[in-house]
Amino acid sequence: MEYRILGRTKLRVSALGFGASPLGDVFRVTDPAEGVRSVHSAIDHGINFFDVSPYYGAGVAEERLGRALSGKRTGVVLATKCGRYGASSFDFSAVGVRSSVEQSLRRLQTDYIDLLQVHDVEFGKVEQILTETLPTLQGLKESGVTRYIGITGYSLRTLLRIAEAFPIDTLLSYCRYNLLVDDLDQSLTPFAVAHQVGLINASPLHMGMLTESGAPPWHPAPLQVHEASRRALLVSARLGMNISEAALGFCLAHSYVSSTLIGMCTQREVQQNILAAGTHYDASLYKALLESVEPDRNVIWPSGLVDNLD
Ligand code: NAD
Repeated sequence: MEYRILGRTKLRVSALGFGASPLGDVFRVTDPAEGVRSVHSAIDHGINFFDVSPYYGAGVAEERLGRALSGKRTGVVLATKCGRYGASSFDFSAVGVRSSVEQSLRRLQTDYIDLLQVHDVEFGKVEQILTETLPTLQGLKESGVTRYIGITGYSLRTLLRIAEAFPIDTLLSYCRYNLLVDDLDQSLTPFAVAHQVGLINASPLHMGMLTESGAPPWHPAPLQVHEASRRALLVSARLGMNISEAALGFCLAHSYVSSTLIGMCTQREVQQNILAAGTHYDASLYKALLESVEPDRNVIWPSGLVDNLD
């Protein structure tokens, strides 16, 4: 496993990170015991970076991850979030953040978090996030509850606006850098590089779309993106490749991202993804895959408050 330093932090994270949202049954109902085994298998294979949120399964993912990490906390870089609690349930207030973090610590069976992130900032008012939410996270950092702080979201414009105005340690964006989209590199990556902010890329499979079984029913992408993904699936099959492994390999080759977070909930997925992380993929494979998704590459969807849309 390759490890990279997360921006200016002292965190050394595995290039392949464990996204724990599937443990909260976000994609499908999962077997909790298999979820625990998948976390243990990930640790055994050198994955040390785990990302979760109270939003994933309304606390279920944190609870299951906490159970799996019990007795294994040392050496793990644990990231969770605050501010988002449901599809349309948000609370970016100071009181809400403090209460959320207390509950996260209990569910995760730990007394500190390595990285506390404001979840999906485009659903909050930028002014509140700058004057109330992030100062509260900063206070939690100063009191040792969390070692570092960051923000996450889909809207690159909102992430950038906030990062330019408040000294955060990390940025996490999702569905903005993979086989179907690469606009992360037009705005957020140059900023992160210039300011040495840690950059985390989530959803290398475009939230389950770049898989043989296809996207979950709630996926927000327009139809043309689903169709582009199906074309990529056909090309990878023709070339004898598994689409998910190829898609993950593409993301892992990014030159600045410290960790690519892929959602996992089975030992089989962990093993497959570890294998993909260690594989060198021929450039001609990516040429064919990227050609297959044109002209529907970089098609995005609206997310967040009207003022915060990209
Ligand atoms: P993803 O693109 O990683 O896809 C996950 C889906 O693919 C799951 O259904 C998983 O079971 C499946 N999968 C994983 N490996 C596979 C393989 N080898 N073959 C076939 N299927 C496979 O999407 P994601 O889970 O949304 O993103 C990864 C993680 O990033 C999340 O779990 C979460 O931790 C983080 N994330 C954060 C935010 C945010 O903060 N706003 C948003 C999205 C994701």
